Amino acid sequence: MNKNRNTFWDFSRYLNLYKDFIGRKIYIVFTLATIASLSESIGILMLIPIFSEITDSSAAEPISNSSSGFDITYFVDGLFSLLSIDKTIVSTLLLIVLFFTFKGLITFCALAYNSYLRGKLLFNIKTRLFEKFARMQYLYYIEKDAGHFANIMNEQAYRSVDAFRSLVLFVTQAISAFMYFIFALLVSINFGLMSILIGIFLVIIFKRLNNFVRELSRKIATEKSHLLKLIIQSVQGFKYLSATNRMEKTSVFIKDSMQNLSNFQIKAGVAASLTQSVREPLAVLFLAVLMIIHITYIDPNIAPILVSIVFFYRGLNTVVNMQGSWQNSLEFIGSIELISQELIKLQENKHPEGKENFKKINNEILFSNVTFDYKNNENYVLGPVNLKFPVNTTIALIGESGSGKSTIADLVNFTIRPNTGNIFLDNVDSSNILSSSWQKNIGYVSQEAVIFNDTIANNISFYETSDANTSDLIIKAAKNACIHDFIQTLPNGYNTEVGDRGVNLSGGQKQRLFIARELFRNPQILILDEATGALDVESEKAVQNSIDILKGTMTVIVIAHRLSTIRNVDYIYLLKNGKVFEEGNFRDLRDNSNSTLNSLISAQKI
Ligand code: ADP
Ligand code: MG
Repeated sequence: MNKNRNTFWDFSRYLNLYKDFIGRKIYIVFTLATIASLSESIGILMLIPIFSEITDSSAAEPISNSSSGFDITYFVDGLFSLLSIDKTIVSTLLLIVLFFTFKGLITFCALAYNSYLRGKLLFNIKTRLFEKFARMQYLYYIEKDAGHFANIMNEQAYRSVDAFRSLVLFVTQAISAFMYFIFALLVSINFGLMSILIGIFLVIIFKRLNNFVRELSRKIATEKSHLLKLIIQSVQGFKYLSATNRMEKTSVFIKDSMQNLSNFQIKAGVAASLTQSVREPLAVLFLAVLMIIHITYIDPNIAPILVSIVFFYRGLNTVVNMQGSWQNSLEFIGSIELISQELIKLQENKHPEGKENFKKINNEILFSNVTFDYKNNENYVLGPVNLKFPVNTTIALIGESGSGKSTIADLVNFTIRPNTGNIFLDNVDSSNILSSSWQKNIGYVSQEAVIFNDTIANNISFYETSDANTSDLIIKAAKNACIHDFIQTLPNGYNTEVGDRGVNLSGGQKQRLFIARELFRNPQILILDEATGALDVESEKAVQNSIDILKGTMTVIVIAHRLSTIRNVDYIYLLKNGKVFEEGNFRDLRDNSNSTLNSLISAQKI
């Protein structure tokens, strides 16, 4: 990216990024701003008769600025006769008050509408991000980290709205400045021209500072997301990191990042203070010089100059303020870019979807020559494999770690899609099926329990309350997951809060609670991916019991290390390096002295 892009081009690009979220409504603010500054300018113009009254009382002739070619007095007089008011000091002052009041009113509307737009903007950004986030494919999720998404959806969203506020202010100021300069030009063309030249000059001096701030803004955005990532990691891994004294190392990284961040912020702050304090003296300096030049060399008549000065001073101030707003928006504008880029990325990484609504599986899930690899470079970690999962049977996947068992489970629940080959659900090619319609039928228990910070009842029902006898179903699921008795011992029973990620529960209790939630759903397919891997013998027995209770009532896919867990399954696939190495039913394989299962059984002694 070219970092020295021209400012105007940047501006329209940024405005388009925002327009993408709130549409053309943005122009209403600008229209109101134009009306407001027009009203103010006419109010200021009314100063001419007053200044002439004060400075020109000796000279009877009215001011007519020949050099501008536009008769201001004529315009002012015209306005008075249009309103049929006598031109006196009092009526002029009243008109000035009127125009400024009108300006105030319109400014209020513009500001109020602006806040409304900011609220809408934040809402639209967040919902659009979250909708796309919810539909992204798992492969993109594992490529990023949790901090990345949290940062984009929160921090960056707020920053982009801040940048929007400054950007709109910038445009509003640009409109006013333009108006002031036009009027300054109308009142006195010499003054007007000089003021425009000075405006351009100021833009040039502040440009360098702008580039500096923009660079810092990018660095701050990157560093912040890096820091957030580190903090989230250390929060999530707190127990492990402190128990092994690895927190010290983590702290070093975090402190470094905080140091960088604070350095960037200080630099950006100093740059901002510099522009802020340089404004006034510069404006006054230019003003004084211009006045001297004009009175000495061009026209000693002071009244039109005074009014022109008012316009000029307002214009100059506005131009300098514009620099401030531009700088403020640059400080945060990187965020809307990050958000737009993320939206594009999320769109590119959309979970592949079919259209067909799949209701119920009646026959079997069939894998036909399915392969999969994570990087899509034909370095298959799985396959080609041919597998069959008939309904209401219990199938075990066994094999060494890394042999592809979880990959198969993820393919069954459509988290990932085959690279080549097909998965059929009752002869329907899975690529034609709407994932959500299939995933509704899936219960999935992984090795790491997924527990929500809520009551036990809500953890089991997952807020599904449509059924009249929800609580009976919750208890039934808990009984089948062999955790009902434990819940009964708790003082608040099913209404006990489990704490963040279930910290109040033991590993085995968490796992059984997790299983209860999946059973409550009454899924057509239940996938247990090393569900008992982390459990003690007692808890494992409980889970084993649940599997046995379910046998024949639903299709169960069990992935297990301990062969005792799969004693009663109907069929076994033994995987090796992503391929099916051996398959058959438990008894046949066990009794075949040449089978790998047979030797595994002797090793584990079950
Ligand atoms: P299992 O569940 O049998 O232990 P997996 O199905 O999880 O094995 O993994 C199969 C292979 O895929 C392994 O060789 C593993 O290294 C690889 N793998 C798993 N997850 C990823 C990933 N996110 N990116 C790249 N490779 C992966
Ligand atoms: Mg696994």
